[in-house]
Amino acid sequence: MNGSDTIGIIKGIGPATEPLFHKIGIATLQDLVDYYPRSYTDFSHITNIRDIEPGLVTIKAKIIKVTGRYVRRGMHITEAVAEDSTGSIRMVWFNQPYRATSIGSEADYFISGMFELSRQKMVLMNPTIEKVSDLPISTARIVPRYKETKGLKSNQIRKSIREILSYIKSAPETLPEWVLNEQDLIPRHEALLAMHFPESSEHLDEAKKRLGFEEVFELALASLLNKDEHDQEHALNIVFNQKLAKDFVGHLPFELTPDQKRVTWQIYQDMASANCMNRLIEGDVGSGKTVVATMAALMVLAQELQVAFMAPTELLARQHADTIHSLLKPIGLEGSVGLLVGGMSMSQKKVMHERIDSGDVRFIIGTHALIQDKVNMKNLGLVIIDEQHRFGVSQRKQLQKKAGHMPHVLSMTATPIPRTLALTLYGELDISIISSKPKGRKAIETNIISPNSTKTIHAYIDLEIDKGRQVFVVCPLISESEVLQTVHSVGKVHKELAEGPFKHRRVGLLHGKLPADEKNAIMQDFIDKKIDILVSTTVIEVGVDVPNATVMLIQSADRFGLAQLHQLRGRVGRSEHQGYCYLVLSDSKAPSKRLQIFERNNDGFKLAELDLELRGPGAIYGTFQHGQLDLRVAKLTDVKLIEAARQSARRFIKKDEKMVYYKHLADRVNTLRSVTNLN
Ligand code: ADP
Ligand code: MG
Repeated sequence: MNGSDTIGIIKGIGPATEPLFHKIGIATLQDLVDYYPRSYTDFSHITNIRDIEPGLVTIKAKIIKVTGRYVRRGMHITEAVAEDSTGSIRMVWFNQPYRATSIGSEADYFISGMFELSRQKMVLMNPTIEKVSDLPISTARIVPRYKETKGLKSNQIRKSIREILSYIKSAPETLPEWVLNEQDLIPRHEALLAMHFPESSEHLDEAKKRLGFEEVFELALASLLNKDEHDQEHALNIVFNQKLAKDFVGHLPFELTPDQKRVTWQIYQDMASANCMNRLIEGDVGSGKTVVATMAALMVLAQELQVAFMAPTELLARQHADTIHSLLKPIGLEGSVGLLVGGMSMSQKKVMHERIDSGDVRFIIGTHALIQDKVNMKNLGLVIIDEQHRFGVSQRKQLQKKAGHMPHVLSMTATPIPRTLALTLYGELDISIISSKPKGRKAIETNIISPNSTKTIHAYIDLEIDKGRQVFVVCPLISESEVLQTVHSVGKVHKELAEGPFKHRRVGLLHGKLPADEKNAIMQDFIDKKIDILVSTTVIEVGVDVPNATVMLIQSADRFGLAQLHQLRGRVGRSEHQGYCYLVLSDSKAPSKRLQIFERNNDGFKLAELDLELRGPGAIYGTFQHGQLDLRVAKLTDVKLIEAARQSARRFIKKDEKMVYYKHLADRVNTLRSVTNLN
């Protein structure tokens, strides 16, 4: 048997079942081995019938007196008695008429199920039975449960895996032996076997430790290798110009926070050093990252080099261009700012391409449009990527390539991930954290609202508008493929509000399907306070900065993930005014744990951590769209494991280990490097 063999060769998988396996992503033997269970039920302990107690139990018994009958139309009941040397017990199955004929009276069976009360009598309810053997599949052991699909149950997956045990047992080792010894890890083949056929819960823990370690080790190794490579690059030397910095800060309408000052200073030091800067700013929504990025750009502009600033949406790019234009105006540098977004006309774009090419525009702000072929940057000294997590790695790389040499790179994100994790994922990055918010900001008041209490909320909102404040109402994107339906649903909400409780107010409507200039006009009206309430899809999710807006009302809030909710809430509370966030549920069911956590926590870092805990192993908090980095076994909250894996990865490099000796590891690490590499 070979890992790449099709599962069709497995006994019991025929032309009917094979496509079902394909549906859950299993085509080869290796895929099947890698299909880890979602959970386990411990049926390993065999009890004498005499000693049985309510709950999950396993017995070893003969089955006697099996009878089946219809109690009424469509309701079949099979009853049987199981007997061992200590006593007997009643068993009941509902709607499984085949049971009566499939049970033999001679054989010994393992019987696992729930012993519970049914119609005043204790019975084993719908138990699983199988003839006694050395290697039972669904009884008398720790029984794994897999993610199923229609027509393909865990039982069938277990059976198939039992057919390839010899293949699993021959799985080669993938980690260096010294790592196994140092970290006290079991061999790979043993771990894989234990995932599907654990002998005990300790055995299972050992398996998870081993496989989880390996996942994080690979990630850590990939990012350390990326860093090494990055450090080889020759850097442009950007000199710190104190007078210019002072001049800029002196004209700001506010005082920088200590965190903003510290991070700006770190950036200046990075850019003046012999290595290329590759820094990520993690700062919660509203912490003031834009001005820090502008200060970074300042020194590069002063040296007659270009700066490219890429944002994920057109709305945001335009807003940044406006903000940065006015920040640079007092020091006379605003003329170097240019905007390039997809929504501009062909001729506007052409003019901008020429101005960029000639070096007339040196601070280029835009969207993905920046990475198109027609854009020729002259002397790109600094690349700034806002809302970094919204871009794919290849997009970030393409922008850097425009330079023809290695530019300094500053990435920013408001989707923070805990520091240990960040270091593992982005070992090649230096990380700055802006944890404080500008002075005078108040915590946003967040409340979950049942759909039948919106009246009261509308009254509150009206009072806010009386005070001169503005309001966002956000409706969920139903799905990418149902954009029209989404447009319809925001349209409906808009109509209901504009003709109902807010008919005396100015209510605007914004969604992705509107032509670019219309979108901009509406956004501008909102900024100019010509609109009181802006009903919108999530197009306003990231970055949008309208400090006078104080209320964020989210419709069907249960449809959003934590990261997205936090981004949306971050649209308010951006000034000294009190901000409010209302989460309207889509039905009157109790709110999910996720929403309750969100209601109680205002801090993005804390939320990121809670989100990780809530989701268990797997998805890395809103960070990557495609999940290539998602871990399957390791818990990202397991700081000890992450630390250990990082240490081993460092030692691996220090020992000058040759990757070629570890083929599997090399393959994995190469893939990860290409996914995470921000160089
Ligand atoms: P984010 O970190 O979410 O990108 P922004 O850079 O958009 O935040 O800043 C949010 C708002 O806070 C903007 O209106 C900005 O002008 C303002 N701001 C930034 N720094 C300060 C400061 N030190 N004091 C007061 N307001 C500030
Ligand atoms: Mg921002």
